Amino acid sequence: MFLLRLITTLIFFGVLFCQSAFCAVNYKVKELVLDNSDSIVVIKGQGNFKLAQDDVYAPLPSANGSINIINDIALHSVTNPARYVIDIPGSVLIGANRTYKIKNSKTLQSVALSQFSTNPHIVRVVFTLKNSSDLEKFKTYTDGENIIVKYSPTVVKNVFQYKFYTPAGDTSARANLQNLSAQIVYNNSQEPQNIEPKFQTKYYLTQISQNSDGLILRGLGQISMERVKYNPEGTMASLNLDSCALSMKYDGKTFKIPSSNPDLKATLTIDKLNSKKVKLTLLGENLRDYRFVVAPDGQSLFISHRTYVINTFFTSRTAKVNSYKFEKNANGYSVFDLAFNMPVTYDVFELNNSFYLDVNNLSDYNEELLKEVLAQAGVEITVYKISSDKTRFIVPLKNISFTYANVESNAKSIKLCFKDNDIQTPVAEKKEEKQDNINVVYIPKQETPEVKEPKKKKETPKVISSLKKVVIDAGHGGIDSGAIGGGHYEKTINLNIAKMVQEKLAKKDVYVHMTRTKDATMSLEERVEFSNELNPDIFVSIHTNSTLNLETQGLETHYFKDNSIDLADIIHKNFASEKNLRKWDTKDRGVIKSRFYVINHTEAPSVLIEIGFISNDEERAKIVKKDRQEEIATAIAKGILEYLKIK
Ligand code: ZN
Repeated sequence: MFLLRLITTLIFFGVLFCQSAFCAVNYKVKELVLDNSDSIVVIKGQGNFKLAQDDVYAPLPSANGSINIINDIALHSVTNPARYVIDIPGSVLIGANRTYKIKNSKTLQSVALSQFSTNPHIVRVVFTLKNSSDLEKFKTYTDGENIIVKYSPTVVKNVFQYKFYTPAGDTSARANLQNLSAQIVYNNSQEPQNIEPKFQTKYYLTQISQNSDGLILRGLGQISMERVKYNPEGTMASLNLDSCALSMKYDGKTFKIPSSNPDLKATLTIDKLNSKKVKLTLLGENLRDYRFVVAPDGQSLFISHRTYVINTFFTSRTAKVNSYKFEKNANGYSVFDLAFNMPVTYDVFELNNSFYLDVNNLSDYNEELLKEVLAQAGVEITVYKISSDKTRFIVPLKNISFTYANVESNAKSIKLCFKDNDIQTPVAEKKEEKQDNINVVYIPKQETPEVKEPKKKKETPKVISSLKKVVIDAGHGGIDSGAIGGGHYEKTINLNIAKMVQEKLAKKDVYVHMTRTKDATMSLEERVEFSNELNPDIFVSIHTNSTLNLETQGLETHYFKDNSIDLADIIHKNFASEKNLRKWDTKDRGVIKSRFYVINHTEAPSVLIEIGFISNDEERAKIVKKDRQEEIATAIAKGILEYLKIK
């Protein structure tokens, strides 16, 4: 009897699942993600799509002139009205059929997602355009999991392609971003919903390949690199790609950097640091000799030992200098602007207190013109040819510091921005304060923090807009383990709790950004910059305490700026509640004003929570347990929700 029922059930489900000859539904279309560059839309999906779609992507036009398009997906263009249609086989749409009405786009009017057919299963995506001439600009790719549609060749102009420090007050780079948004209209009776671009992602890293002398990272959008950081021995180099999304299949993966010289051994590990940044870590020897070369299309990055940076790899055409300009603005920033007659490949690096720019396909740098411009500017820049088509610009960083290099998206202009050192700079100030802070953050704290001040009077919390954004910062990570006790690392406890807080807030529809989601190294500046760029409602840093007095235990909430007092009070009230203190058998060490770097430099109301002492045997035994971490996370999340006035 039971067996019969089982067989019947199996047959029943078999019929349900295999309505067509291609019975497998192997892909789910989940949502549409807008990118505020107004050039890319990502159809986010899930499933085995990638299994059928190997090697479908080669976006480097100059390499062989061909672009492979997903073979299995049917693409149609319709000119009247202008529409671009994608049919995805073996797929189901999650949620109701819907149309995204796009606002402030130069190209798109709307994007519709629908379950076009269930036998066979096909999800249809229809892009309705403003202009039929834009149809030819459409390109479709996949990163294995998602379908990426690029609909405009013009990507964001004036992004910091190579970001050393973003000068304070220079917001021009951001001003050019499109203010894209959309309204989702559902085909059922569901209320329309407004959405904003989920990512400010400007680069989708989708493919990593090797040639005989290096690694090639390819993607869509514009590469934006931060300054390369080295350890003193030169055996580790790290570089963040800012505003970058990573294909899941590469997260956490390590690649050998090939070389025809067997003595050169280096590896590259690639990690998704958080929702914005991807971290590249090189391990090997003499890593200062490695170069990161950006292709003229700004979409590919070649990583190789300097001896193998071949000029013709990305482009066989040599460029000439059209013009030089030198401009000094009132804030002490100088911009050296180089314009070329055609796109260039370049790499930048620092050596012996000088800044180097190598333009890899520049045959003529127009020496006369350069001399003239530099004489007027009164600066010292040395230029010489390394080879017939490779030119090196050297800027000694004696009285100036380098702030950023910025390449136009057509790679025909490079701007180098410098700051006079004798003018009070935000950079210099930052460094001094960091020095202070290393003492506070990394060395076990004294029983009584030196910078303890009485609490300020309460202010009423500011009125917060409807979209709540929270940055959760798991303290330390990667090579910085934080405090250590009984074989346990602070960084791990912090991350566990941070993730739990994230999960709890996400359930309440709070938009949570994590500074790190894995065991990755991240500087204090990077955390602050991450938060300030996102402009969240609040910033919450999670740490575990440590002190030389092994008896000490208890809970602390730290704030520094006046705008953070209420947040600190409300979180602490929930965290160090009577009930929790009794249950956890610990002490309330209070709300403390402390000059920690992250809570001092983040613009949003910010707190740093010390969830207990790893140096105390009893407390440590409790806080390393999952149950206790859940309870701590619940209390912190409760405080955050109360502050944000979310029920
Ligand atoms: Zn810490």
